[in-house]
Amino acid sequence: MPDPAPTRPLPPAVLETVQRYWGFDSLRPLQGQAIAAALAGRDSLVVLPTGGGKSLCYQVPPAVDGAIDVIVSPLISLMKDQVDGLKECGYPAACLYGGMATGQSRQVYRDLMARRLNLLFVSPERLVLSGTLDMLKRLDIRRFAVDEAHCISHWGHDFRPEYRKLALLHEEFPGASVHAFTATATERVRRDIAQQLHLRDPAVLVGCFDRPNLIYRILPKVDVEQQALEVIQRHRDEAVIVYCIARRETESLAFWLRQHGIKAMHYHAGMESADRHKAQEAFANDQIDVVVATVAFGMGIDRGNVRCVLHASMPKSLEHYQQETGRAGRDGLEAECVLLYSQADVIRWESLIEKSAAEAEVEVSDEVVQAQRRLLHDMRRYCAGLVCRHKFLSEHFGQPYPKDNCSACDTCLEETQDVEESTVVAQKILSCVARTGQRFGAGHIVDVLQGADTQAIHRWHHEGLSTYGLLKQMPKKVLLSLVYQLLDQELLTRSDGEYPTLLLNEASWQVMRGQQKIRLILPRKKVRSRKAAAGATAVETEISWEGADRGLADHLRTVRRQWAQERGVPPYLLFQDRTLIELVRRGPTSVAAMQGIYGLGSRKLADFGELLAGEIRTYCAQQVLSAASRDAVSAESGSQAGPGQVAPGRPTVARVKAFQMYAQGAQPEEVAKAVGQAMSSAWQYLVEFMSQPRAVDIGAWVTSRQYEQVIKVAGELSSPTPKAVFDHLGESVPYQLVRVILAHRRNVRAS
Ligand code: ADP
Repeated sequence: MPDPAPTRPLPPAVLETVQRYWGFDSLRPLQGQAIAAALAGRDSLVVLPTGGGKSLCYQVPPAVDGAIDVIVSPLISLMKDQVDGLKECGYPAACLYGGMATGQSRQVYRDLMARRLNLLFVSPERLVLSGTLDMLKRLDIRRFAVDEAHCISHWGHDFRPEYRKLALLHEEFPGASVHAFTATATERVRRDIAQQLHLRDPAVLVGCFDRPNLIYRILPKVDVEQQALEVIQRHRDEAVIVYCIARRETESLAFWLRQHGIKAMHYHAGMESADRHKAQEAFANDQIDVVVATVAFGMGIDRGNVRCVLHASMPKSLEHYQQETGRAGRDGLEAECVLLYSQADVIRWESLIEKSAAEAEVEVSDEVVQAQRRLLHDMRRYCAGLVCRHKFLSEHFGQPYPKDNCSACDTCLEETQDVEESTVVAQKILSCVARTGQRFGAGHIVDVLQGADTQAIHRWHHEGLSTYGLLKQMPKKVLLSLVYQLLDQELLTRSDGEYPTLLLNEASWQVMRGQQKIRLILPRKKVRSRKAAAGATAVETEISWEGADRGLADHLRTVRRQWAQERGVPPYLLFQDRTLIELVRRGPTSVAAMQGIYGLGSRKLADFGELLAGEIRTYCAQQVLSAASRDAVSAESGSQAGPGQVAPGRPTVARVKAFQMYAQGAQPEEVAKAVGQAMSSAWQYLVEFMSQPRAVDIGAWVTSRQYEQVIKVAGELSSPTPKAVFDHLGESVPYQLVRVILAHRRNVRAS
């Protein structure tokens, strides 16, 4: 089916538009082809992973050719967010949906008729109303984009019947092109989308599904609360989504996290809609860090800076997993996806599948139940296997994975911690099952191995068994997780029925006879940073907060929150984290110096450039004052340089950082590296640092002999410029050191 759009050069207006509205200086893979297809009026099916940049593909064309395009979008909140974000960029867009206030929709109609808009977002229900169709015909719409197009397919995981009616688009608008966008990779869904939408010779553009910025980790589930807390604490002040299976689990976990000082709320479909809305808004607006939710949460959430998605339980398919983890790191920066896995969740899903088939009002065919089981089986294989997660996912979604080591999953980072003498431990567990007659469940076996004092143990006289207390050094929850690992590796079997018991199979006997070695893993893993791993490439060049001035970062985050609140939009819509990171790293103190910063298009620069520069200047000035003259600068003298002192230059982030480092005795080489500037700048900062109105110990940079030599020669010369002293010394003291010494000397004299 793939029939990519021919690659022809894009009109220059495309990049100009992207730069002007969004402040991006290039296009991402396939965006160019998708935009070209739209501009040429050719139908297209664009499949890009979450965060791949689908929106830009349909937002750019009408801004280039001045058309009004219609975007069909499944969720009102999603539409509203997009429109708000576009407006902040100065892009004319609006939305229409059922239940909208009449005044508002009238205004949208007026804007459309006056051709003041380039994009109209509309819900599928509203689109197919005859009134809407008539209006769009009058506007001579040339392009329709269908977002989240997999909702049209029965085979997708988000089927929405109202999407089926979109088949009428080509009939009603024969001259218009239709463009479908989805992140769902399966071939079957893709074919279905093309058929259902009656796409005509579409350009099929399928992107790469791997998300190199995501680090996948799977931990044996032992203690959900404690493990969740541990993961979340790695992401202090960052956005985290936790997924649970059951509603009550979301409530209790959120409660527990709050008790441990985490700003968390729960979210599930059983809540009042106002409460749901409140949780969603609080998360979007950065008022809370963590949402603990069922799968109901997510589609309307576009927060790009989610740094971690934690699955407290296993999802029922890799498709769900891919979509839910896809909500992490949409901004392209590093993010973590942790799944707490237990075979118990597989069992739980199996019974849920059976139960929902049995209780369904319409008969569910065996084929559907089998399909669900297959999805579950793939999910289980993913969790239980100790293979590269990126590779597994790519291959599952039909794409080869080119690398041997992704450097971004627990397996490739070698974080997994094996149980010492796994085979022996397994033999102990299995022989306990044998000695108790294969008539008990996991809980009782664990009790026996732990040497517990329970009624059941006494009743069956199991305290007399040789396996009684055999693994008492192991915590109960860990032991239980090992039993589930054995089940997972099919080294044990579990009977059906209401009270399942553990049974031995052929493989169990092989292990007990020492014919098979096995591997069991512990819940605790060392978490390594991907950079520490050999062969890491993907994210080395990526932008991160690491090493950035924390104080300025916090300050800019706070002002982002304030400004966003004043404007009634979520903070991440105003500036993405990446924009803030670049601001912090480059520290521009004027609008001119902000050119080329990611995400600052002309409208944003006009609206916020001066404000941002002012905030950075103020912050830097405060830092210079406190770092360099904390106690010496009085209100009268201000920050003016005294006689003979070198006045500090403009307070830039680099200068502030350099001063802070010199105050700790850092060497110019280190400073140059840390602030990303040339050695000459680092020396200049050291000269300025020496000129601060307070005594500085120069011993970290020069020897007393060098100092004396320079001072002696300077005293002998009528005009002791650094160059003259340097020449006079026959270059025996490096020139930069001469400058530093003379600056220090002047300063000591002046004070
Ligand atoms: P998707 O809809 O495919 O999940 P989005 O359209 O939301 O992805 O884009 C994901 C992120 O990437 C957004 O923050 C967006 O601003 C950013 N982005 C999109 N295209 C580009 C580009 N060409 N350059 C830089 N950033 C981009």
